[in-house]
Amino acid sequence: MRWAIRMLLAGMLLWGGGLAFSQIVAAEGGAEEWGYDGEQGPAYWGQLSPDYATCATGREQSPIDIPAWAPVNQPDLQFVYQSTPLTIVNNGHTVKVAYGEGSFMTLEGKQYKLLQFHFHAPSEHTWQGQYFPIEAHFVHQSDDGEYAVVGVFIREGAENTAYQSVWDHLPPNPGDPQTIEGVSVNAMELLPADTSYYRYDGSFTTPPCTEGVKWVVMATPVEMSTEQIAAFQAIYDHNNRPVQPLNARTFYLGGAPQTLPQTGRAPAPAGWWLVSIGVFLLGAGLIIRRRALV
Ligand SMILES: [Zn+2]
Repeated sequence: MRWAIRMLLAGMLLWGGGLAFSQIVAAEGGAEEWGYDGEQGPAYWGQLSPDYATCATGREQSPIDIPAWAPVNQPDLQFVYQSTPLTIVNNGHTVKVAYGEGSFMTLEGKQYKLLQFHFHAPSEHTWQGQYFPIEAHFVHQSDDGEYAVVGVFIREGAENTAYQSVWDHLPPNPGDPQTIEGVSVNAMELLPADTSYYRYDGSFTTPPCTEGVKWVVMATPVEMSTEQIAAFQAIYDHNNRPVQPLNARTFYLGGAPQTLPQTGRAPAPAGWWLVSIGVFLLGAGLIIRRRALV
């Protein structure tokens, strides 16, 4: 009997120790390596770890394709971004710039602090099925822990001097964060001049694919030169998760969900058919009348 109790106690200790160890490993994030290739790639994220299950089972995942019917919100977001000393890291998944205290945006009446921004190439969101060479993500969090991410498409065009201070210091290899002496960056200058936007609810686009993220995707891309785009692609050229199903989601306009079609393309409304028939009859009528006149 005493022996049985000892075994039980030993078992409990081992189990408790193992649990504590697995929690430490999970907290360090070292146990479950994920990536964009092969068996660590996006198709397998959900199976790499129980912590990543949402990547496979989630119904509100990001990124998504932004369809033609998605409504564009007026530029009513309030951005209060300060300059921050440039602290940059290549973390093995992306190049990320950490943001200092005191910068935030107001979305649907709530304040979200800017934590960091980073890049994906090609874009993660698509627009009517179209990819952009790069997409920037500005990650925000509210005091109650809710996330809001602003996505900015980057297309090929003029050289972008606002991004150059970051681009001058892109770390080619994974490593520790570096603070660059005497260099600062202001995210305000990295947004498009016109901040009209698409708005939907989604997730992180990397494991653990946590849902409940408020997504804001700028409707207007910013430009970068071919050389600037190539400089990022030399470091990461496929760190983008494929687009995910929209499922039962819709887009928001003025903070309210739109009662537009939830999946696929919008069917032509009944009115469109009436107009078509009207135009046809008018045309036919005109032809008949002209013939009568001749
Ligand atoms: Zn991202």
